[in-house]
Amino acid sequence: MKYCNNTIKYSRWKTQEVKIGNINIGGNNPIRLQSMSSCRPMDTEANVQQAIRIIEAGGELVRFTAPQVKDAANLEFISKGIREKGFDTPLVADIHFKPDAALMAASFVEKVRINPGNYAELTTSKINYTQEEYANSLAHIETKFQVLMEKCKQNNVALRIGSNHGSLSQRIMDRHGDTPKGMVEAAMEYLFIAIKHNFYNIVISMKSSNIRVMVQAYRLLSIRMREEGMNFPLHLGVTEAGDGEDGRIKSAAGIGALLEDGLGDTIRVSLTEDPELEIPVAKIIADRFQNRTSVNTIDIITVPYDPIDYKRRETKVVNHIGGNSEITVLSYDWKLGLEGDNITFRKRGGNSSEKPFIKLKQYLQSTNDNDNSFVGVTYNDFVNGKILDIDKQANIILVFEDDTENSVQCFRSMFFHLINIGVDFPVILKHKYEFINEVDLQINAAIDFGALLVDGLGDGIWIENNGNISEKRINEISLGILQATRCRITKTDFISCPSCGRTLYNIQEATAVIKSKTSHLKGLKIAIMGCIVNGPGEMADADYGYVGAGPNKINLYKGKKVIAKGIPQSNAVESLIELIKEHGDWVDPK
Ligand code: SF4
Repeated sequence: MKYCNNTIKYSRWKTQEVKIGNINIGGNNPIRLQSMSSCRPMDTEANVQQAIRIIEAGGELVRFTAPQVKDAANLEFISKGIREKGFDTPLVADIHFKPDAALMAASFVEKVRINPGNYAELTTSKINYTQEEYANSLAHIETKFQVLMEKCKQNNVALRIGSNHGSLSQRIMDRHGDTPKGMVEAAMEYLFIAIKHNFYNIVISMKSSNIRVMVQAYRLLSIRMREEGMNFPLHLGVTEAGDGEDGRIKSAAGIGALLEDGLGDTIRVSLTEDPELEIPVAKIIADRFQNRTSVNTIDIITVPYDPIDYKRRETKVVNHIGGNSEITVLSYDWKLGLEGDNITFRKRGGNSSEKPFIKLKQYLQSTNDNDNSFVGVTYNDFVNGKILDIDKQANIILVFEDDTENSVQCFRSMFFHLINIGVDFPVILKHKYEFINEVDLQINAAIDFGALLVDGLGDGIWIENNGNISEKRINEISLGILQATRCRITKTDFISCPSCGRTLYNIQEATAVIKSKTSHLKGLKIAIMGCIVNGPGEMADADYGYVGAGPNKINLYKGKKVIAKGIPQSNAVESLIELIKEHGDWVDPK
């Protein structure tokens, strides 16, 4: 039986230590926090100032984009500026497409990130590779990559091999598609080359704006590395997570789900906000795990379902909950009528009790007809075998209750037990948060519920608190978690990049305006991206794209197809709305 195993202690998957300047990542080191400058690469002073704000907020690594060789060369002066101000924080160069820029950057920074999707491909348009063509392409990559590794060895520079969903090479997509497997195999090719050349100073990432894809990719990567006897540290992140509450919830759910798996050595929360604002969010996420004491971790390889393929747990339908019904948001005694379909009920004994909520012990002692009841069960009910006393034919909804720091692991154990004994009651996930502020609630609830929802576990969520946060806000946060995990769509989905030195327009302002005008378009996915170099690929499955194309110039996309080019930013939001109208996706706000 694979449940309630108290002998498995919480631990991160033990990766090898990688030295980056004056810090180490992986092994027993703390989860490192990092962010990235969004200033133009040649604006040395702006980069220095922003890097210092990131460092003073608690950032332990700072990354800079270097699109061209001259930008990589300017890292010398950015680095000097930061060092002269007394900061020795390791600096990272972010390189796409230009092996020469990577080579230049390795003279001035402590780590270089390359994207295996575009580092040194021979061609970007070819399809249907023969074995020989594929091998030739890889040989070309090895030649370029070997030179970079030699330079990194000489200068004690680390590398990050960073796969991104949406920017895989045509060669990889030819074989594996734009999938978690493609993301993993793209990185594995580089790892095999690195090991062949005795280079081990490497960190890996597998980012996506879709947190299911992101979680599956990192899990698959850890499985593939274990198969090959590798244990490179993992850099976690959700790309294009957006801003505000949505961005925080999306990042926490994706990063937190993996940390609950015991995977992850360094994290970056990507928000379409000033980068120093990412660090406090990253800190809340990381602290939750760094400060943990006695908890279990379940090895994802042992779970009774496929951790690399999303499938909602099969349940019977009780009182419109479970089966293929929409995931429900529950609360005590609250009726706003939002969406008109939230299940609401009052405490047992309240004067308008609709559906009783009773503890398992009472349920088992009762002689009444308890069909449609919500039955609260705890981890101890499972440990003590009490769950086996419920008649499998009963029509009840289980409410998993646990308020500890270890609720994800407890609930996972409880689900595994239900799956293993073939019990198909729908399950509501319930967690009570006492005296918590809104941001802490957003982040912790996103992890507590998101880590289960990404695996198809749970038919409803129920956040309770001591009353310091309104039920209306709790409902909005609950729906935000369901949206981020793609379990239930109640509003427009915004995919917006954090911006970087490639962004040549005011993306924060544009994001705010677009959100204010289109956030009523339920179910529509709108991407707001900083540049046409990586934006179109990484906006994933967005329905519409608003992408920076030059100084204050915007390209508009319908799906992956560019529809209008070079629109001045001042007209671009109106043009986007026109485009949405032309395709019949517009409704007037109520
Ligand atoms: S999509 Fe955004 S974050 Fe990514 S490279 Fe372009 S501007 Fe930078």
